[in-house]
Amino acid sequence: MKHPFNRMTDDQKLSAFRVMLDSSASAVFLGGAGVSTESGIPDFRSKDGLYHRTEKRFARYQPEYLLSFECLRNEPDVFFDYYRSHLDARAVAPNAAHKTLAKWEQEGRLAGVVTQNIDGLHQKAGSVNVQEIHGTTWRNHCTVCNAAYGVDFIFESAGKPRCPRCGGIVRPDVTLYGEFLPKEAHDNARRMIRDADLLIIGGTSLQVGSAAGLARQFSGGRLVIINKSKTLMDGEADLVFHDSIGKVLTEVDALR
Ligand SMILES: [Zn+2]
Repeated sequence: MKHPFNRMTDDQKLSAFRVMLDSSASAVFLGGAGVSTESGIPDFRSKDGLYHRTEKRFARYQPEYLLSFECLRNEPDVFFDYYRSHLDARAVAPNAAHKTLAKWEQEGRLAGVVTQNIDGLHQKAGSVNVQEIHGTTWRNHCTVCNAAYGVDFIFESAGKPRCPRCGGIVRPDVTLYGEFLPKEAHDNARRMIRDADLLIIGGTSLQVGSAAGLARQFSGGRLVIINKSKTLMDGEADLVFHDSIGKVLTEVDALR
């Protein structure tokens, strides 16, 4: 039988995950929006996500447009209004998934995290090797002189945030729709996943874009998938949990 986990009990699956983790030399976690939704950050696309909560003043725009390079360039006031009111994660706390992954990295069980999320919650939980393939809201830079600014610079400003040195518009280091992924983070992510002997994918259905492409870089070793709903790679995984990521990771961590 190709996928024996289909017949395993939850406890057997958790034990099998634990054995894979303990015998791995280079485990990597690849995470999508579902990791952050457990901290209360809405997914862009889900039924309860950002796209379906849009206020009246943004109603005439396509949701993708509000986080696009086109919007930043053509209607910066709209872009920054939307950005400030929807993407400020400064007060959000990391959840059990972030904390367990940070613990595993400190214990030498996990080589690092590759994330599509831009909220900085992995670092807040204590993870060090985090490749942010869609950038981060925690860094900003001037579009003219490239000067770097911290997270508060845009969230504490009004209108178009201007660089004090040159007057240029300061923008977040976030990959917007219509932009290329940050090369260094993406290259690092590809290398980490290619070299991993255990890949844990969490919080993404792998239906779109960058996570799916990166997951395809993985060739050797065990694949564990944790997602509330089915993913496109369930059939290729050694273990699949259709469950909360925080819950599964916590339970695996508690096994000794
Ligand atoms: Zn500047």
